[in-house]
Amino acid sequence: MPDQAKTEEITAHVIWMTTGLSCDGDSVAMTSAVNPSLEDIVTQAIPGMPKVVVHNPVLAYEVGAEFMQAWYDAEAGKLDPFVLVVEGSIPNEQINGDGYWAGMGDDPDTGQPITTNEWVDRLAPKAAAVVALGTCATYGGIPAMKNNPTGAMGLPDYLGWNWKSTANLPVVCIPGCPAQPDNTTETLLYLALHLAGRAPAPELDEALRPKWLFGRTVREGCNRAGFAEQGDFATEYGSDHRCLVKLGCKGPVVKCNVPVRGWQSGVGGCPNVGGICMACTMPGFPDKYMPFMDEDKWGGAAASIMKFSYGPIVRYMRHRHIRNEFDKEPEWRRKGAALTTGYQKRW
Ligand code: SF4
Ligand code: SF4
Repeated sequence: MPDQAKTEEITAHVIWMTTGLSCDGDSVAMTSAVNPSLEDIVTQAIPGMPKVVVHNPVLAYEVGAEFMQAWYDAEAGKLDPFVLVVEGSIPNEQINGDGYWAGMGDDPDTGQPITTNEWVDRLAPKAAAVVALGTCATYGGIPAMKNNPTGAMGLPDYLGWNWKSTANLPVVCIPGCPAQPDNTTETLLYLALHLAGRAPAPELDEALRPKWLFGRTVREGCNRAGFAEQGDFATEYGSDHRCLVKLGCKGPVVKCNVPVRGWQSGVGGCPNVGGICMACTMPGFPDKYMPFMDEDKWGGAAASIMKFSYGPIVRYMRHRHIRNEFDKEPEWRRKGAALTTGYQKRW
């Protein structure tokens, strides 16, 4: 690789804030990534990529004030370039009364916590890239449900949908509740390579998601879609392998690659292994998809059309073809003195 040593000499830092309104599930999920794994990234196992130092409170060796030093160093410009990863939604501190909704570290002058919002205000303008990780950070998610008391929102709502980092990137959104592990590490690797000049800027869609990960719907990658197409639907949870749309699956109107990618090393997932998709990657999650276990009215209507019109005919014809034709070997595969395969000797 040309100039490999040059990019490998760069040190990029990741300031990973888990102090939005969150459960740290994205950090925990990310530790099971394999393509690449976090260890691949931090040990520089991939040729040509910069050295990456990750400052994440779930995994850090340092604790307390020692851990917080990286935050002050990033603010002082001592960790350039750095990527700011935010996990959890951003509360509205303008309605916090006398307290605060979320914070990290103490202000030495007042002894009061420094709010998550203040850290975002201090660090985002200096970050080469800002990543919103998980549906809370991207779009608000569960903490931003109707009737929540904090006024929570996603990072693009807080910084602005047209906001740009010092490397001219908008907030990069990796939704999922939690984000699929390899989606997280793959995007972070991509950003590291972009910042090192080895890859173009990631292509993002109108909701700021990487297009290559969130370009198709759950249904378009679901291994039960074949059942749906021939009007065959599960009627109860369990070992029934048929399409789950009548049990509440929201897959047809959700953008997510989990059924294609699996959860960990290709294993697991949601509708592909029997759990309805509850739309956890979507900006409208959760309110617009609740109650989760009720059938979606459009999904149900489409299912009824398939079930009571062409579905049974298609199914019958296919099964008949399989039984009568394709489950049988061609007739020339047999013992006997004559060769009947159609082979003609040419020399
Ligand atoms: S199980 Fe869900 S995603 Fe899969 S085919 Fe049915 S509705 Fe679509
Ligand atoms: S398939 Fe649905 S429930 Fe599963 S991770 Fe994707 S969006 Fe979430």
